[in-house]
Amino acid sequence: MTLLITGGTVIGPTGATPADVLVDGETIAAVYAPGTGPSDTETLDATGKYVIPGGIDAHTHMELPFGGTFASDTFDTGTRAAAFGGTTTIIDFAVQRTGEVVQDGLAAWHAKADGNCHVDYAFHMILGGVDDDSLKAMDQLVSDEGITSFKLFMAYPGVFYSDDGQILRAMQKARDNGAVIMMHAENGIAIDVLVQQALARGETDPIHHGLTRPEALEAEATHRAIMLAEVAQDCPLYIVHLSASRALAEVAAARDAGRNVFAETCPQYLYLTLEDQLGAPGFEGAKWVCSTPLRSKHESHQRDLWQGLRSNDLAVVSTDHCPFCFKDQKELGVGDFSKIPNGIGGVEHRVDLLYQGVVDGKLSLQRWVETIATTPARMFGLYPRKGVIQPGSDADIVLYDPNGRTRISVETHHMNMDHSAYEGYEIAGKVDTVISRGEVIVSEGAYHGRAGRGKYLPRGLSTYLV
Ligand SMILES: [Zn+2]
Repeated sequence: MTLLITGGTVIGPTGATPADVLVDGETIAAVYAPGTGPSDTETLDATGKYVIPGGIDAHTHMELPFGGTFASDTFDTGTRAAAFGGTTTIIDFAVQRTGEVVQDGLAAWHAKADGNCHVDYAFHMILGGVDDDSLKAMDQLVSDEGITSFKLFMAYPGVFYSDDGQILRAMQKARDNGAVIMMHAENGIAIDVLVQQALARGETDPIHHGLTRPEALEAEATHRAIMLAEVAQDCPLYIVHLSASRALAEVAAARDAGRNVFAETCPQYLYLTLEDQLGAPGFEGAKWVCSTPLRSKHESHQRDLWQGLRSNDLAVVSTDHCPFCFKDQKELGVGDFSKIPNGIGGVEHRVDLLYQGVVDGKLSLQRWVETIATTPARMFGLYPRKGVIQPGSDADIVLYDPNGRTRISVETHHMNMDHSAYEGYEIAGKVDTVISRGEVIVSEGAYHGRAGRGKYLPRGLSTYLV
């Protein structure tokens, strides 16, 4: 069956163009000048709305085991919430725990997701232990499993941590097989010392989570990762959840030198701060414990991050969606901030929060669409199937209403969380209609999709490298 989306303004990397979009089955069949499409088909009126490619959230953690508990969204609840927020693809992180066979970790993630997703999904692979076997597994995942990006941690000693030698070996392997290395860039060894010293002084409140993860230790790790990638002959490197000005400066310097160095930031770093959220009275700040941490509002981080999005030193906005309920989960850290599960839920709000940046004059419409959809598709080997409105691409389409309003609240969100990190935020725009592979799954706030309709997406190599 066919559907003609009429009267809207299509937003893509080349600008904003009034156009009608013909969907045939699961794909986009044609893009027409307004009023010139076929007349014998069902229509969807998009007058006054932006027609954008469905959002791609390249950093989520559904059901992630962490800190003695599990992220509270399943692939069912989390991908449904994503759909409500205009995100039609997620790339989640399958996990190889230390000592585990990589392929077993991947199989466990397929088992969690299979039959449960409301939108399409793909996986990156977290390597919890770099050794001869996991290096060999990297080749197999790239060639056979459609997994072309691997995440390593310079933080969390004893959990996910890789030392510099392990990182270098994985980067050399990625350089050979074309994969991208994703890096959690914080110096976890030094952070653990600061954490122990703070706890010994009786500093147990959530704000100390941020104070013990200073900017210098993000910037240092970012610099070290960039240097190690240089030694690995410019292995493609993607810094995840970049939060701090000096880390951004390291990425910008590498990019100015023509290196294959990329970075993402997340909405929490663009809107929330150490003082106002993490420093909330009592234990309240636990809601905003995430790593990297929220940064001080008295420094220039947020201004610099928005600037980085404009200049493409920050290429992607992901959420690092890793929700934990306040009750019984965040509360594990009462009296000891180091025991608070690290993570913020936001998979539902990314498209809206970045659109607010357009309203505020911080981003162009094109950069909005690039950072939330087109570039993640190119970066992670999903383009042009995803991330663009053009003939042959999957019909993942969001009608976005610039005259609508969205008020974010735990009362109305669809994520499995008992609070919202953005409670009370008002967005001057609204997700109106969400189409996933040709099927209208959200319209006028009502849900029409179902668990299991989302498909696994094997990915190709990045097409974003310089
Ligand atoms: Zn993460």
